Amino acid sequence: PPDVLVVGAGLAATRTVAALREHGYDGHVRVLGAEGLAPYDRPPLSKHLLDRTGPAWLADEIDADLTALADDVRLAEPARALRPAPGGATVVTDGAEHSAACVVLATGAAAVRPAGWEARTLHTAHDAAGLRALLGSGPRRLVLVGAGWIGAEVAGVAAAAGHDVSVVEAADAPLAGPLGVEVGGLTRPWYAAAGVRLLTGAPVADVRPDAVTLADGRVLPADVVLAAVGARPATAWLGDALPLHQGRLRVDDGYRVLGPGGPLPGLLAVGDVAVRRSARYGWVPGGHWDAALRGPDVLVRHLLGVPTDPATGDDLVPYVFSTQLGHDLALLGLPSPGDEPTVLRDPGGAGFSVLWSRPDGTTTAALAADRPRDVGAARRLLAPPALPRIDPGDATSLAALRR
Ligand code: FAD
Repeated sequence: PPDVLVVGAGLAATRTVAALREHGYDGHVRVLGAEGLAPYDRPPLSKHLLDRTGPAWLADEIDADLTALADDVRLAEPARALRPAPGGATVVTDGAEHSAACVVLATGAAAVRPAGWEARTLHTAHDAAGLRALLGSGPRRLVLVGAGWIGAEVAGVAAAAGHDVSVVEAADAPLAGPLGVEVGGLTRPWYAAAGVRLLTGAPVADVRPDAVTLADGRVLPADVVLAAVGARPATAWLGDALPLHQGRLRVDDGYRVLGPGGPLPGLLAVGDVAVRRSARYGWVPGGHWDAALRGPDVLVRHLLGVPTDPATGDDLVPYVFSTQLGHDLALLGLPSPGDEPTVLRDPGGAGFSVLWSRPDGTTTAALAADRPRDVGAARRLLAPPALPRIDPGDATSLAALRR
């Protein structure tokens, strides 16, 4: 069988190597990583920033031993360039060139730090260790820029540990990007209840290690400033070797990298680095754990010609989870800005759920907040093959709905 070269040594890379072996591939597999660390899980970096240390967050849910599965694992040999070639591609590192018939790009993403901002970011185990050291010795004033998934998670754990926490957000609500202002705004009371100061509609003008200045002139003094304003696919090293769309690699339903004329032979991409074409959802960006966990199995099945299980299909339902400010969120599907949210509440019960519909009545996404039963219901409602049309009527939970 042809050689496989996996670039990246995170979740998507590990799952790719594991899936190759699970499906019986016995050819040569080489892995190139950049961090010099065995693969580890990122979600605990924010959720357990202050209550887990060192190797305790390594390999927590990456239940595969990369070195036992692959033939050649180089955890500190980052790819610097790629040259597509007939019959595969060559990846250039500082000391070597690696050619393979099949190259899987799984380099993930990197935290965004806007030009001129002097702030920490949180994306790697190294970032987390640095942040934890700063917050470890007594109460600090922590200013977080960005009330997205990661900002909200860090705000919650820092406030619970006794720090003085402020979150500044340019949009009019937390999580406005992924959920919209109306639904994102439902999480606003969580901040006050956790003792976190939340300023929305508050774009920043200047970010320094000891203060954040807002566009309206207000100054928030800080001991620690963390920028949590998103992540960008790690594709800079590719230069213009492959076509990028907003920095991402577009892939088809088998995770083959798409060029102008269709899939490029021998080139695949999965995880945060890729944006996947979905029959139901359009272009689905990476950036979430579940896609890096489950995408590789689909990739490998397409690569090796292993038939698809009709029960699950190849078109995975996008899934994001988050534990923030003491609350659990699960988002299934992909709401678009034009979709109409319906909020489902039970006056006597905990939490809430949301169902999004397109103007034609097609259901695109469901959110469950502090409602474990509704997470399962959302999975059932959005199961493949087609997007359902669900009229929420006066239901108070997703569990009460049928597709
Ligand atoms: P990564 O895990 O980032 O792995 C990519 C690897 O490639 C990295 O180790 C990187 O160093 C390496 N690499 C980069 N460039 C090169 C190169 N040129 N050569 C070789 N190697 C390279 N998602 C959720 O759904 N829920 C959550 O609650 C959640 N929490 C998160 C909390 C934090 C703090 C962070 C940072 C992310 C969180 N995520 C969460 C997102 C989730 O962790 C990612 O979607 C997932 O890690 C993506 O896996 P990946 O393998 O594509 O990328």
